[in-house]
Amino acid sequence: MNKAIILDRDGTIIVDKLYLNDPDNIEYLPGAFKGLQRLRDAGYIFVIATNQSGVPRGIVDLDNLHEIHRRIDVEFKKQGVEFLSFYYAPYMTDSGHPMRKPGTGMADLAAKDHNIDLTKSWFIGDKMSDVESGHRAGMKSIFIIGTEDPKASDFKPAELECNNLMEAADFILADS
Ligand SMILES: [Mg+2]
Repeated sequence: MNKAIILDRDGTIIVDKLYLNDPDNIEYLPGAFKGLQRLRDAGYIFVIATNQSGVPRGIVDLDNLHEIHRRIDVEFKKQGVEFLSFYYAPYMTDSGHPMRKPGTGMADLAAKDHNIDLTKSWFIGDKMSDVESGHRAGMKSIFIIGTEDPKASDFKPAELECNNLMEAADFILADS
């Protein structure tokens, strides 16, 4: 079975532009390429799991969403990093849909699609809903410090709070 890193998109690998809809506005976060290269070298596989309530809100166009993911894919492949799937949950914030984080729908689907051992895998994101989704799926979780105060959440804290994917990679490699 594979060990994986399930990554949130906005605020984790690219700058969170709040309902990003224009593929020209993709901006990569510091440490994203190098951090994932290090984890790749340690044998981890990668998928993206992103909540996209902008779709049902009518702010994010599906064709644009797919183009954004295509460009992210191309850019990371240039750096030797491959995302095996881009999962997205196009449901409203209050929908309670199991595919939407903190639900485990995307993590469970990733595990099935890519033969992932979730107990040896990590969920990384900048929201406590990312951390909780990972924990509910039986994974360890890392919180990327950004716009959300993790202490304001009732969810169980992440195994690590850090600033970027380089720091996250250091911690994961030291842990395993
Ligand atoms: Mg995010």
